[in-house]
Amino acid sequence: MSNDVKVYHQYEDDKKESYQSVVDGWNKSKKEMLESTENNRIQRWSYSNGMFKYFNNPGKVITDRNPYINIVDTEEFDLSIKNHPFPPDPPAFNNKNRPNFFGTLMDEYVDESDWYKDTLHTSYERILREAKGQDLPQVHPEKQMDEKDLKKAIFDYAKSRGFVSVGVTKIDRRFISVEVDDEIIFDTIILLGYEMPHEVVHRYPKPEHDTAAYYGYAHCAAHVHEVADFIRSKGYDCRARSWEGFIKYSVHAVNAGLGNFSTYGIVHTPECGTRIKYTSVIIDADLELDEPIDYNIEEFCARCRMCQKSCPSGAIPKEESRYRGTVKRTTDHIKCFDMMAIKHECVQCIRVCPISMLGYENALNSLPTYYKHNLDRPAYKTNYKEVSDEA
Ligand code: SF4
Ligand code: SF4
Repeated sequence: MSNDVKVYHQYEDDKKESYQSVVDGWNKSKKEMLESTENNRIQRWSYSNGMFKYFNNPGKVITDRNPYINIVDTEEFDLSIKNHPFPPDPPAFNNKNRPNFFGTLMDEYVDESDWYKDTLHTSYERILREAKGQDLPQVHPEKQMDEKDLKKAIFDYAKSRGFVSVGVTKIDRRFISVEVDDEIIFDTIILLGYEMPHEVVHRYPKPEHDTAAYYGYAHCAAHVHEVADFIRSKGYDCRARSWEGFIKYSVHAVNAGLGNFSTYGIVHTPECGTRIKYTSVIIDADLELDEPIDYNIEEFCARCRMCQKSCPSGAIPKEESRYRGTVKRTTDHIKCFDMMAIKHECVQCIRVCPISMLGYENALNSLPTYYKHNLDRPAYKTNYKEVSDEA
């Protein structure tokens, strides 16, 4: 990437920031960004250098054409949800006095550790090769169906491979790490969410036989190429993408109508709350886009806050940010990662979450009637029920 890349916001290990200081820092950064870029500017996630880089944006025409991406206000999202996927140097993973999180977690707690590691490694290597144009599988020379039938066929097949949350939206390049920009060669993305089993999450804080997040990652890794190969067999080109953080999936999942943001910034789905990990396939086809849906989850979260009250690291703070009638929190990724390293993924915020553990319908039905109006909306039934019934 070129020299005009600039890092505007970076968090340090021991830096304690109040919400107001984040606001002040953001406003200062924003002013500098505005002064240093042109009108087509774009704000981007960055894997290697911290939270923000700021660019002039030749791809603005793509985002401007997309009717859905502006549903999420990127400034407010960045401000109020701090658990971005690209911490520059997560302290928990580099502290010599603690167990290496990724290195030991699977060996100690996962019965099928070898299968997990092998699957993750093999799948990721293939993704990297294909991203470079190497060893690309053949695309069937004839298109086997039109794009309408293709979408249904992909959804059915993905569900048969275990993905419970499937949706289509346009790529929002503001939420892609600049390092993989060149690899995102198609504008349409199929989100594929894999459920972390209820019983695995339930066993925490003493995970036995399995770990929640790695279950999700390993199964995303195991099945994402199957979906991509299925698409190629129907005559359409595509690329599998990984479960890692290079694409910010929460934003895309919200735009694809798969869920709403939770109190701690992870996407809540009606299928399994936040017990979910995403991977994706980008595709060279104009599939019909799914639309964002209000599942009334933010309403429920506003009356719950169990995750915030029980977070052992205090990563989900009390301070609130009100925006368009909703309340959001600023999850501190450094505190969270530190606790995850000590507590083997922790996942306390998922374990205490009524939507994730009791189910969406059960949780929402506990709301007074006047908070449940969205359950009867046609959009909810179409996107959730219909797809489930077809699987
Ligand atoms: S994983 Fe643990 S430390 Fe991190 S936000 Fe959830 S409850 Fe807090
Ligand atoms: S624990 Fe409660 S507040 Fe937190 S994400 Fe779940 S439903 Fe929302």
